[in-house]
Amino acid sequence: MKLKDKDTIVVVGGGPAGAFFAIHFLRLAKLRGLDAGLVIIEKKAETGLGDALPHFSCREGCNYCAGGLSPKLVEALEQEGLFLPEDVIAGTIRSLTIHGHWKNIELRVPEDKKMYAVFRGSRPKGRANQDRNFDSFLLEKAREAGAEVILGDVYDLRYSEEGKPIVFYHPMKSGGQGRSAEEAEGDPDADRERFRVSGEEGDRALEASFLVMAGGVNQSLGRPTEKNPFWDVVRKAVPAYSPPEVRRALICEVEIQEELEAFLEGEIYFVEYGSKTLKIEMSSLIPKGRYITAALLGRSVDDSRSGDNLALVNEYLELPQVKRILPFRAEMKPVCMCAPNMTVGAAAQVAGERAAVVGDMAWARLYKDGIYSAYLTATALARAVLEAGIDSQSLRAAYWPVIKDLKRDNDFGRILFMLNRLVFSNPTLSRILYQAVLTERKTEPERARRLAEILWKMASGDDTYRAGLRAMFHPLAVWSIIAGGLVLTVRNFLTEQTFGLRWHRLGRYPTGLHKEDMEQKREKLRPEGRPGFGSGRPAFESMYAITIKSEPNKIFRYLGTFGDRDRKYFRPRWLRVERVSGSPNEPGCLIRYKTPFRFLDFQVVLERQVEEKYLAYRVRDGFAEGGILIFDIEKAKPGVFVLSIYVAFDIARGKKWTEKIFWFFFRYFFPGFVHDVLWNHSLCQLKDIIEKDSY
Ligand SMILES: Cc1cc2nc3c(=O)[nH]c(=O)nc-3n(C[C@H](O)[C@H](O)[C@H](O)COP(=O)(O)OP(=O)(O)OC[C@H]3O[C@@H](n4cnc5c(N)ncnc54)[C@H](O)[C@@H]3O)c2cc1C
Repeated sequence: MKLKDKDTIVVVGGGPAGAFFAIHFLRLAKLRGLDAGLVIIEKKAETGLGDALPHFSCREGCNYCAGGLSPKLVEALEQEGLFLPEDVIAGTIRSLTIHGHWKNIELRVPEDKKMYAVFRGSRPKGRANQDRNFDSFLLEKAREAGAEVILGDVYDLRYSEEGKPIVFYHPMKSGGQGRSAEEAEGDPDADRERFRVSGEEGDRALEASFLVMAGGVNQSLGRPTEKNPFWDVVRKAVPAYSPPEVRRALICEVEIQEELEAFLEGEIYFVEYGSKTLKIEMSSLIPKGRYITAALLGRSVDDSRSGDNLALVNEYLELPQVKRILPFRAEMKPVCMCAPNMTVGAAAQVAGERAAVVGDMAWARLYKDGIYSAYLTATALARAVLEAGIDSQSLRAAYWPVIKDLKRDNDFGRILFMLNRLVFSNPTLSRILYQAVLTERKTEPERARRLAEILWKMASGDDTYRAGLRAMFHPLAVWSIIAGGLVLTVRNFLTEQTFGLRWHRLGRYPTGLHKEDMEQKREKLRPEGRPGFGSGRPAFESMYAITIKSEPNKIFRYLGTFGDRDRKYFRPRWLRVERVSGSPNEPGCLIRYKTPFRFLDFQVVLERQVEEKYLAYRVRDGFAEGGILIFDIEKAKPGVFVLSIYVAFDIARGKKWTEKIFWFFFRYFFPGFVHDVLWNHSLCQLKDIIEKDSY
């Protein structure tokens, strides 16, 4: 059975799935020369179709979503000609940071990819541009494509004698340019009007040639889905329909002070563990100007009731791993929260006679990319309807296989997330993975970084779970984890124990540079006029960097305590570092390094300083004579600075043959990694004390 000219499609639900279906269907229909009408019935007046906001709010003013738009979705939108206006984009994401139990892994958004953060409705109350949001934008685009949008709450469904579905809805009030049900009644398009049949007093009914159900899984927010009366409506059209498995999530808009907006700008955080009392499996923090959207999943959320929401959110915001994301004394105020359902499976049946379900009601990608999932199901259904037909058999042949395939991918996703949870919630495994990613970052060119790519794809939803799992068990990836992760973790752990480095309550941040940034950093930091050491590269060269949320004068002042006996950083066992003459941060200031072995002792003298920007020490005496130690402070964004360290020295060669042999072997076996471990710990200490002293 095929659609004919003047047929009407009714779409229940004007969320992403409904809007995507409308846009795609109307475009394809036009290309095929089919003149069919399409009506979307959406119950939320507050989606704000137009300039002015309605005064009347039927439901919560959002679609209960963190609003992260994956690169795949942005690409798909742009292919459809849907370019997000600036006032709909609440944030452009440049990096994703995964907080595991050990350190944090930061993954940059590749230059050829785009990721955005958006609001999915007018909430939180009082935000600027409330009527500019993703769902309203899509509905506007659906209207531009020719869809009619009616504000109404669908509550029943019957079939006409002809076998066409008739949808019953309570009209909703609207503001702005949104068309109310009353306005729709007076539509001059007589052809379409004749498909409207009158319902009971006060209510309306619409007859459809084909019905698309895109109502999501949150009709009765916070209540178990099996008690959702909307499923009875759906089952009248798709008798074998059984809703997809859902999981209770917790979502909250957190307001921050205006001056803190810049701190998180462009970043998304995934915090993959909670605490002994707060069982969190995964959570995300997506900054959007004055707000951060926090979304949580885990046992504590599964077992909670609506009355527990605020307590859970407050406990979450107090977690050290969450608190560290913003400056120490930042205020995070939860202003809007709820516990919606998240689709984590697929419906048992998705199509009936002249009807089908899309979006969350049909399938969503496990824990990721629900909006892109809505796009996939909606566009697949639009194609199936036009190419195959609208009877249940045609839809089963053309639409169901797509859902089945997507559903299978979630099975791979379950394994992937199980491994993810296992690794990131375990300090040892998390540390091994962190180390492997870091080793890869320092040694491999960007395009050859397997582990970073796997994590990026998983975090951003940029590939199928099947491909992610396959990549994870690729022999080269396993080798990277063993050689670059396990072995180096053992080595670094032993180094930390030897030098008495303790991480208790200290934030752990990677300080190694990306391989591609090294040359640029080297060029910037190396003192002018001394391009090399002797004949070529120095025997030892290392660079580290850490971002610090503070002001440069503070960072500079703390760097000045470098030689103080009571400084709070760089205090490894076996090594005494003391200022022996001069004043902090003043040229000529002399600092002595004393070790248990005299031949390893040396001094550094401050040769050059640029106030609040740069300190260059030169090594005097000792095996590394002539070497340099440079500190550089550079602005990353307002209130956030990058402190970089450049260390380079040559190793003595000796005069006598015995000395020559000794220094030859010393150079060969010089444990450069000890330096990395000491400075990584020290930079994390510095960050901690400076940030605690800053806000
Ligand atoms: C906590 C949480 C965080 C998430 N974060 C992300 C994220 O960052 N990125 C991402 O891509 N996905 C995310 N998702 C998933 C995403 O929100 C959904 O997959 C997506 O919204 C599904 O779109 P949909 O159109 O199927 O359903 P919905 O967005 O729920 O839209 C359904 C629409 O139907 C309307 N409706 C319902 N019943 C009726 C009725 N009876 N009559 C008329 N209208 C009706 C509703 O008002 C609503 O507008 C998240 C989900 C949760 C729970």
